[in-house]
Amino acid sequence: MPCLDSFARPINYLRVSVTDRCNLRCVYCMPAEGIDLVRHEDVLRYEEIARVVQAAAALGVCKVRLTGGEPLARRGLPDLVRLIAAVPGIDDISMTTNGVLLPRHADALAAAGLRRVNVSLDSLRPNRFRAITRCGELTDVWAGIAAAERAGLTPVKLNTVVARGLNDDEVVDFARLTLEQPLNVRFIEIMPLGANEHWAGDGYVPMSEVRARIEAALGPLETVRGHDPVVGNGPARYSRVPGAPGTIGFISPVSEHFCFHCNRLRLTADGKLRPCLLSDDEIDLRAALRGGADDQELETIIAQAIAAKPARHHLDVGDVPHARQMAQIGG
Ligand code: SAM
Ligand code: SF4
Repeated sequence: MPCLDSFARPINYLRVSVTDRCNLRCVYCMPAEGIDLVRHEDVLRYEEIARVVQAAAALGVCKVRLTGGEPLARRGLPDLVRLIAAVPGIDDISMTTNGVLLPRHADALAAAGLRRVNVSLDSLRPNRFRAITRCGELTDVWAGIAAAERAGLTPVKLNTVVARGLNDDEVVDFARLTLEQPLNVRFIEIMPLGANEHWAGDGYVPMSEVRARIEAALGPLETVRGHDPVVGNGPARYSRVPGAPGTIGFISPVSEHFCFHCNRLRLTADGKLRPCLLSDDEIDLRAALRGGADDQELETIIAQAIAAKPARHHLDVGDVPHARQMAQIGG
């Protein structure tokens, strides 16, 4: 049974950032010069992450998502997947990635126990993709998506952050992808984390506008019900163009926050538990891990982090987190 937080929300999902390093530099996520990286010795070792997962599983966590930075930028990731897959109670391991390195690693990850991947992709135009990521090649991402599908890391979901003047003119093109292929495209409202000029300017686009643009071009969307394999218990609301093989998800952390259904905790690469993505409050787990804490003590600290989850974020009143960039938390 999952642990309940102070607002009776069952917490069963842990997002683990395995590194703050990344092979891309997306303009809304990281400054061009990169970020001050965590020192190598401060990054949790795989065995330490596995201990945290084990303690979290004892409190009812059953789902783990690997993220970053770019999780595939850390060497030997299948070893971590294997360790987590062996933890009793963990029944779902997934990953959020920019996809570039998937052709090299998808088979080994699937063999180790990874179930699914979400691939972030913000433009279908090669030049623009290169500009947004400051160095990426679109063909690498498509190769990564194909590799994930071949390896059975399905359903693959595409995550597209929408920002005005950056890629908002492509939302219909993204939606059209679902007409021909069983692709799951999810649009995400940009959030004000770190040095994010696309938020500070007029970059924010509400999901209602994204949906309206798609419906104006492709007609009314129909709601996808909970029995569809794509629809998990996450924050996206799914629709599809009637008869289309793919789905379109809308994730609106800003305009219609889903805090009252939040089921997650986050672990940063340097071993801090973050009860809420959009609050700077953190609880140090690394000190306990390295100070000889036993399993019971780890569980106590994780239970404290669960109890410390706030009811909701307060972006609406300008309460914006400052301490970390998105790449230092993992989304
Ligand atoms: N590197 C991996 C990737 O790009 O998928 C995993 C880490 S990345 C920080 C996780 C997700 O956060 C990506 O889908 C990215 O687009 C999203 N993201 C980054 N900055 C964001 C922001 N300011 N607002 C909303 N989403 C953001
Ligand atoms: Fe790297 Fe992902 Fe951030 Fe892009 S969104 S810079 S790929 S961590």
